[in-house]
Amino acid sequence: MLIQDDCLNGLKTLKHCTVDMIYLDPPFFTQKQHMLRSAAGTVYGFSDVWSSRGDYLAFLKERLIEMRRVLKDTGSIFLHCDSTSSHYVRLLLDEVFGEQQFRSEIIWSYKRWSNAKKGLLSGHQTIFFYSKSSRYKFNVQYGTYSPTTNLDQILQERIRNADGKVIYKRDERGNTVPAKEKQGVPMSDVWEIPFLNPKAKERTGYPTQKPIELLQRIIRISTDEGDFIADPFCGSGSTLVAAKLLRENRDCEVTVLTKGKDISYAGCGLPYYVGGVIQDRSQLIVNTPEKFAGLTGARVITQTEALAVHPAEHKVTARDLSSGQEQDYGYDKLVIATGASPFLPPVPGLELKNVFVMRTPDDAIALREALEAGEIKRAVVAGGGFIGLEVAENLAAKGVKTTVIDFAPHVLPNFLDPEMSEFVENRMAEAGVMPLTNVALEGVEGDGKVEKVLTSKRAMKADALVLAIGIRPNTAFLEGSGIEMCKGTILTDAHLRTNVEDIYAQCDYITIHVPLLDSTRGMLNADAISKMKDGVILLNFARDLLANEADVLEALKSGKVARYVSDFPNPTTAGQKGCIVIPHLGASTEESEDNCAVMAVEEMMDYLENGNIRNSVNSPACDMGICTKAGRVAIFHKNIANMITKFTAEFGEKGINISDMTNKSRGEVAYTMLDVEEAPTEEIIRALEAIQGVFRVRIVKG
Ligand SMILES: Cc1cc2nc3c(=O)[nH]c(=O)nc-3n(C[C@H](O)[C@H](O)[C@H](O)COP(=O)(O)OP(=O)(O)OC[C@H]3O[C@@H](n4cnc5c(N)ncnc54)[C@H](O)[C@@H]3O)c2cc1C
Repeated sequence: MLIQDDCLNGLKTLKHCTVDMIYLDPPFFTQKQHMLRSAAGTVYGFSDVWSSRGDYLAFLKERLIEMRRVLKDTGSIFLHCDSTSSHYVRLLLDEVFGEQQFRSEIIWSYKRWSNAKKGLLSGHQTIFFYSKSSRYKFNVQYGTYSPTTNLDQILQERIRNADGKVIYKRDERGNTVPAKEKQGVPMSDVWEIPFLNPKAKERTGYPTQKPIELLQRIIRISTDEGDFIADPFCGSGSTLVAAKLLRENRDCEVTVLTKGKDISYAGCGLPYYVGGVIQDRSQLIVNTPEKFAGLTGARVITQTEALAVHPAEHKVTARDLSSGQEQDYGYDKLVIATGASPFLPPVPGLELKNVFVMRTPDDAIALREALEAGEIKRAVVAGGGFIGLEVAENLAAKGVKTTVIDFAPHVLPNFLDPEMSEFVENRMAEAGVMPLTNVALEGVEGDGKVEKVLTSKRAMKADALVLAIGIRPNTAFLEGSGIEMCKGTILTDAHLRTNVEDIYAQCDYITIHVPLLDSTRGMLNADAISKMKDGVILLNFARDLLANEADVLEALKSGKVARYVSDFPNPTTAGQKGCIVIPHLGASTEESEDNCAVMAVEEMMDYLENGNIRNSVNSPACDMGICTKAGRVAIFHKNIANMITKFTAEFGEKGINISDMTNKSRGEVAYTMLDVEEAPTEEIIRALEAIQGVFRVRIVKG
């Protein structure tokens, strides 16, 4: 974001404590007019002439106070200056930020040659590094050791001897012990970075331009990805460029496939192109494919429609719309940004001439051409949302009698309360646009072109119909890809990742919920597993054929997969080490899946915490609520006579009172829970386990 203003005003637009780092390269009090002409002939310059040093320092102080306000508590400021006023600036920073917040005086040193100067040639500038508090963010950076460093010596482990003196550690043979690898030399406060000579590649022509490497170092030590950096004296924008370069990876090969002719057009301007407010088509296009490719290095392929995505093979099949030829494009990462298309309702007559939508520059051009050809005197706009009202406004401005219909009781129904919509409807009527609400579009009639628009209330004479009744996501081509969707929208996590691909690398447990299609058959295969974490646990309650179970068994053998859990038992997986196969849990809807998952967790927790059994397939239901006594013991045993007597006798012998008890059975299995006044001892548990017919004893509480 670039704000062109006095930085004092710009800073005032920022909220308190929002900025992570500020770098500023303000005027240095050189008392000179700085001016430089770029190779292209552009003249850049600024005035660094002040009436007094006091005037200069007051100017700086006012802005530094504002900078301190916007910095986060963990934030830092780097002020660039030189010997002209660095001695004053440091005192100013002490005053505004506090002496204790001084972190470093970075010396940027460089080599310059001149025979003209008497005395020592200036070869450095100063950058004062202050933080807002002691909780400032700092990322330690390491450099390489100098060639003269005796690495063997510094990489030896040291210990203190009996006298407390540091000595080299030695093994039993008397040899020194190498330490773990050292990270390198921590960065010092003297930075040798070449000065930007007039022929340097990154030179823009700005007189006091600073090297990108310098700014990148500052950004690296003081910020993390996603942090907010401010550069109040932006100059030629080196901070912006440095941050952008750190964010980008120019080594990536990026291909953009798009169906249309245009990319990066201003959708918001389309209705205003119709009304002539935007006069020229080129004003709608922010970037042409050529310009975008030049700016970013991305390859842009237009008029090419993606037809299918094959995640397992990492490829997209697309069709060149001019030649009809299909081609596969491989990828490591796939970004889906196919947007949406206007919704076309299932009513008759939409194929007639002069039925328009408003989504692309071509849509706006078509409507304007019809207007300019004098074909449209009356128009109906279906849809009283933002797009419909903007189109209506522009049609009315061109003298077209315009009616807006909407089946909601008011225009802008999704955005405004009825009271406010009423106000908008009155303004529309004043401007010559008729709003008709509670009216649904039912069709179009005409001889080759629009002559009548049919609605749920009445038929209206019209020369054109503009449809602005919503959009539908362009995701049909993802059908069968295995990407999880809901009503045509792609389901993602908070980082906009879909269920396939990278999610594999992130998860300790992976559960799949996709239908069995040709494209998803065997999707949990060796390739997919190779992208997962070591020791991953796979849960497959969807279909056994979604997993290539031979690959899964191999991965279980090698330890790559720790467990494979499935409710599709079959001869391949049953009884195999690492496989947990359970009877099939049955089909489920999306909603019931959610509910079942919640229920299963709740019931499992109830069993683990309270010993209660609900909805078990082979154990009896048994619920004693939460235990309020000192202990609870749960016993699985045979459903045979005299068991309860034996259990109670064990507690009775030890003088422990049983305050509550329940016993339930199912077929041959019984389950008994006893709440007792004293925590059960190991001795009692062993005694209970020794009773014939007892399968398992568990202390639930105690
Ligand atoms: C008339 C109008 C006015 C608007 N006014 C505003 C406004 O004032 N303020 C605002 O914030 N927003 C406004 N918007 C919304 C804004 O333009 C959209 O939110 C934005 O364009 C969405 O960008 P996108 O990249 O997600 O999708 P899109 O811009 O729809 O881009 C998706 C691209 O993918 C291509 N594509 C689709 N399917 C395939 C496929 N299978 N293969 C290859 N390519 C495919 C499409 O051709 C399209 O070029 C307006 C939109 C319109 C139409």
